[in-house]
Amino acid sequence: MNSKAPDQAQPPPKPIPVPSSVSAPFWEALRRRDFVLQRCSGCGAYNHPPKITCPRCHSQRLEWVPVSKTGTVYSYTIVHRPPLPAFKNDVPYAVGLVDIDGTDVRLLSSLVMPPGEVKVGLPVQVMFDDVAPDFTLFRFEKRTAS
Ligand SMILES: [Zn+2]
Repeated sequence: MNSKAPDQAQPPPKPIPVPSSVSAPFWEALRRRDFVLQRCSGCGAYNHPPKITCPRCHSQRLEWVPVSKTGTVYSYTIVHRPPLPAFKNDVPYAVGLVDIDGTDVRLLSSLVMPPGEVKVGLPVQVMFDDVAPDFTLFRFEKRTAS
């Protein structure tokens, strides 16, 4: 009877975000391969994470609008120590702040590329990652010429 050594065992499942009533439209859009952000109809400001009132003008007239699926790496770091056991087979990996084209929004997510290829100013695009049958995350990958 063989038993696997602890370090060869499958890692536990990765955590999945739990949408709130406010953030649910963002996650539902990702599932449809749409990339949307919340924008205030009163002053035009983008809000991310989404809010129930605009932090700039206090309007509650907030809408979900499609935005560009491209952006630029503002900053990044390389994760060498897994934050949870679920990520032990993923390290090292890159995590970055990405400025979304056409908005003033800077999003944090993993950068799906070899860590040595990441650099500030790198053009990237949204990648849809179906992490569960009913849940999709966004990540960023190198922008392909279009
Ligand atoms: Zn506003």
